[in-house]
Amino acid sequence: MKIMVAKSAGFCFGVNRAVQMVHTLLDEGKQVCTLGPIIHNPQTLRRFEQRGVQIVSRPDEVPDQTTLVIRSHGVAENVFNEIENRAIECCDATCPFVQKIHRIVAAESKAGKTILIAGDASHPEVEGIIGYCRSRCFVFKNADELQNILNQASFGREESICVVSQTTFRVNEWENCLKIIKRVYTNALVFDTICNATAIRQSEATELSRQCDAMIVIGGRQSSNTAKLFELCKKNCAAYLVESADELPLSALSRVGCIGITAGASTPASIIKEVFDTMSELNQGAGPKEDNTEGSFEEMLEESLKTLNTDEKVHGVVVGVTPSEVLVDVGRKQAGYVPASELSADPNAKPEDLVKVGDELDLLIMRTNDQEGTIMLSKRRFDAGKGWEKVAAAEEDQTVLDGVVTEIIKGGLIAVTNGVRVFVPASQATASRSDPIEDLLKKEVKFRIIEVNRGRKRAVGSIRSVLKDERKALAEKFWETAEVGKQYTGKVKSLTSYGAFVDLGGIDGMIHISELSWTRIKHPSEVVNVGDEVTVYIKGLDQEKGKISLGYKKPEDNPWVILEREYPIGSEVEVKIVGITTFGAFAQVIPGIDGLIHISQIADHRIEKPQDVLQINDVVKVKIIDIDFDKHRVSLSIRALLEEEEEPAGGETEE
Ligand code: SF4
Repeated sequence: MKIMVAKSAGFCFGVNRAVQMVHTLLDEGKQVCTLGPIIHNPQTLRRFEQRGVQIVSRPDEVPDQTTLVIRSHGVAENVFNEIENRAIECCDATCPFVQKIHRIVAAESKAGKTILIAGDASHPEVEGIIGYCRSRCFVFKNADELQNILNQASFGREESICVVSQTTFRVNEWENCLKIIKRVYTNALVFDTICNATAIRQSEATELSRQCDAMIVIGGRQSSNTAKLFELCKKNCAAYLVESADELPLSALSRVGCIGITAGASTPASIIKEVFDTMSELNQGAGPKEDNTEGSFEEMLEESLKTLNTDEKVHGVVVGVTPSEVLVDVGRKQAGYVPASELSADPNAKPEDLVKVGDELDLLIMRTNDQEGTIMLSKRRFDAGKGWEKVAAAEEDQTVLDGVVTEIIKGGLIAVTNGVRVFVPASQATASRSDPIEDLLKKEVKFRIIEVNRGRKRAVGSIRSVLKDERKALAEKFWETAEVGKQYTGKVKSLTSYGAFVDLGGIDGMIHISELSWTRIKHPSEVVNVGDEVTVYIKGLDQEKGKISLGYKKPEDNPWVILEREYPIGSEVEVKIVGITTFGAFAQVIPGIDGLIHISQIADHRIEKPQDVLQINDVVKVKIIDIDFDKHRVSLSIRALLEEEEEPAGGETEE
């Protein structure tokens, strides 16, 4: 079985653009509604509905906090005025081809011309066009209606006339109408504004159906252009209209030798792909294993966008900005657009933050689609071309470049400078390998170019090289002024089992674990964490080895100082039993100081062992009966208090 897909099957440029805009807004987390259904495809509408997209018929129905999308047909100028007056956030997906008609009729009617519109007066696109006419306008569906208008019109041959057409007006009818107009108004200003996407899709479907035994036409049953395709195909071979792959008549199709696939303008590529894949599987499951499909679906899709004009530069003026693209007038018949991804080297940048209507841009043509009359342009590539020279020169003279980190990717990050994407490997991104490179995202960085591939226009940079120099300069400055006892404020960079490393601003010092706390700790993390700002002082310096020992714990926090100040001998305190031995029990007097209650001091009578009276975690009242500051020993007594209760008596010290 041979399977062929029509090149222009599926979404036209304008519909694709409108659908993408809704996707972009939803991906940004916005509440979205559309003024009328965005597309005549039930699956796409269902999917949008599942994502919360509502359809409204008037601006006053737009819920609060919701972005309104104007579909590709466009709307009248007064609708935009109402949207503005109601302060509704709006995203205009009017097809550029339709916008062009709006511009023509607005300008020509303002200049006093009478506007004649070839089209269906009840179609939303024509309603929108009428809404831009500032003078008289007439709409005609065919040559007869045109003739009637001219017969009844109150204007004569000297009238200044401008003629435009609905984008989907039939070509034959248009030509018939023009003959009439030109006969009457020799000076008529005629703009052929028919979009050839529909005509081309239809002629391709006709041509393909002549070569095939059967045609699959994919599209909504409500879609008039899909119905038209179906009609055309069925004149030449068996034709099947399906809305999705589920509806394919597989048993009938399995007996067919050559199958063609086409789709209406509102059919998403995903559904065409589904149908194509189902047919390819049927092909492989039945008959010989030979693959007769004409390339992959993606290749076919790509083929439909061919004609690459590499490196051609153009200058244009921005005529529209949407979340997904910028429309640019480059002085050609085709509609120029710059996809958001081609606007800037920063993938996070939003079109509305980068350009505005009226801005002039230098651009590079990426591809033209003559079938649809569009030119895809790139500002990013134009800028990169200019910036590349600077980047290449920076490698030679080791200039430090400024850039912004736009992406964290596998193995490193991308920093953009002068419109050029420079790869910085993870090993060159930070001063130390332990520093997380994710923290650099969206930050400004300085780097050197360490490698350039001129052929592939690839550049590799090093942030570390610049940081190293900066740290070296800071370190030199540090050693000039550093002295024991001097205080610094620094940031904890890393922790090890034996201490904490602190960045003093270009140079690192270490607080030994014993210097972190007056109490015994098992790990530095009990006192400080990476990223903490700490005040430290220099305890020791070794410039030769580059070692800086830091002190952290403060003398006034020394528990022996506190004990001496606040707990003189004879004080009564509540203590917690923290350890028991054969000769007594240890109790915490204050954090960092444990005292001993000798077995003889536990009770006012003889006991066999401390456990007869005390258990770990017991809280008991004791008297401090002795303190040896030199040996750091504190003697406690319960007995002394018990005896005092009976008759005042002095305590006994242990050891
Ligand atoms: S004018 Fe052409 S490209 Fe634009 S939406 Fe209509 S058919 Fe599609």
